[in-house]
Amino acid sequence: MSTRDEISRRSASCSCGQLKAEVSGDPVRVSVCHCLACQRRTGSAFGAQARFLREFVILSGESSEWVRTGDEGSKITYRFCPTCGATVSYTIDDQPDRIAIPLGAFADPSFPAPVFSVYESRKHVWVVMPESI
Ligand SMILES: [Zn+2]
Ligand SMILES: [Zn+2]
Repeated sequence: MSTRDEISRRSASCSCGQLKAEVSGDPVRVSVCHCLACQRRTGSAFGAQARFLREFVILSGESSEWVRTGDEGSKITYRFCPTCGATVSYTIDDQPDRIAIPLGAFADPSFPAPVFSVYESRKHVWVVMPESI
């Protein structure tokens, strides 16, 4: 295989494994968000997510949807597994060409690191971001 055929492929899934997202190529943006809504959704101190162009994402499995209105009025649609509850993808209505996938759904410690950190006003005091962000 020549090197130009080596497009990275990654797969994300929910905890029970029935809801999946297969992605090819690298994410267009990897970020962490410290907002309270992300804390609540993830059950963690902050959310981490990777955005991909929609044409490079294949979603499969059964999902339920929940729509939240963001601070700036945009609507965010989360797709999560009806069995285990894990969110595997979400879309923001004013960025219809992109799909966001929670970083943890890849269960891959070598996944590209976040470059952006947003809503730091809500950041837990003990959370320290790397200087590269
Ligand atoms: Zn599941
Ligand atoms: Zn957030």
